[in-house]
Amino acid sequence: MSEITYERIKTNLQALNMKNTLTIIDNYLEQAIHNKTNIVDVLDHILMQEAGTKKKRAVESQIQMSGFPFKKTLDQFDFSFQPSIDKNQILELATMRFVENKENVVFLGTPGVGKTHLAVALGMIAAQNRYSTYYINCHQLIAQLNKAHFENRLQERLKTFAKYKVLIIDEIGYLPMDIQGANLFFQLIAKRYEKNTTILTSNKAFSAWNEVFSDITIASAILDRILHHCQVVSIKGESYRLKERKEVMKQKQQIVNTLFDKQA
Ligand code: ADP
Ligand code: MG
Repeated sequence: MSEITYERIKTNLQALNMKNTLTIIDNYLEQAIHNKTNIVDVLDHILMQEAGTKKKRAVESQIQMSGFPFKKTLDQFDFSFQPSIDKNQILELATMRFVENKENVVFLGTPGVGKTHLAVALGMIAAQNRYSTYYINCHQLIAQLNKAHFENRLQERLKTFAKYKVLIIDEIGYLPMDIQGANLFFQLIAKRYEKNTTILTSNKAFSAWNEVFSDITIASAILDRILHHCQVVSIKGESYRLKERKEVMKQKQQIVNTLFDKQA
């Protein structure tokens, strides 16, 4: 192969942004020529590798853009610690059929039972499947909508939030919301209704959402739309954070005990 052809191949690979091929081409071509590899196999290998890395990079950037507070997966979730959760229901959610069906999911439960972990884990699967996915906590969401309203670009902002295939709104009910906030929240839910999937988490039972949204009418309009096509995962159990803290305390106590035993 002439030097000119070789350079042209490299220039074109660069122009086509075939990064993986660019890094492997030198060794690979040499080997292929040496082994007299069939031209179809050469093309197949190069394209398979390139497509593979491109997909991997796209998935990574989708996950990066989703704004998850941490990257946790379903594999990392200990279902035996939380027996009130129907593992099969979560595995069914992991198939992403609910996203295809534009259904919502609400995780309810006291702090530390794994609501954010499960919501993020489903969000990670969504992002891996190239659904546009975004995580935001409820307080920040309302703050952003309020700011947009103040700056006269609410519709634009609502449109952005409405178009995510999967939007995770975490921690509803942790902080009180005024009527203006509830109104903005309603507008977003109404825009997403039957169009895209919303995953929500809350430490408050639905019966307490009147207080969360400061207004019965708005609260029921919000609940009506969220619950129309929705799976509710109600988690009743102990806090995993507390369990971890207890274990650390136990370990510390054991260290103290051994030290004490040695001294005695
Ligand atoms: P919540 O959102 O319900 O307050 P999180 O999902 O933030 O709780 O869980 C608190 C911490 O405990 C996180 O680090 C999470 O990964 C971990 N965690 C919670 N439940 C489990 C579980 N069953 N198995 C493994 N880790 C868990
Ligand atoms: Mg949480």
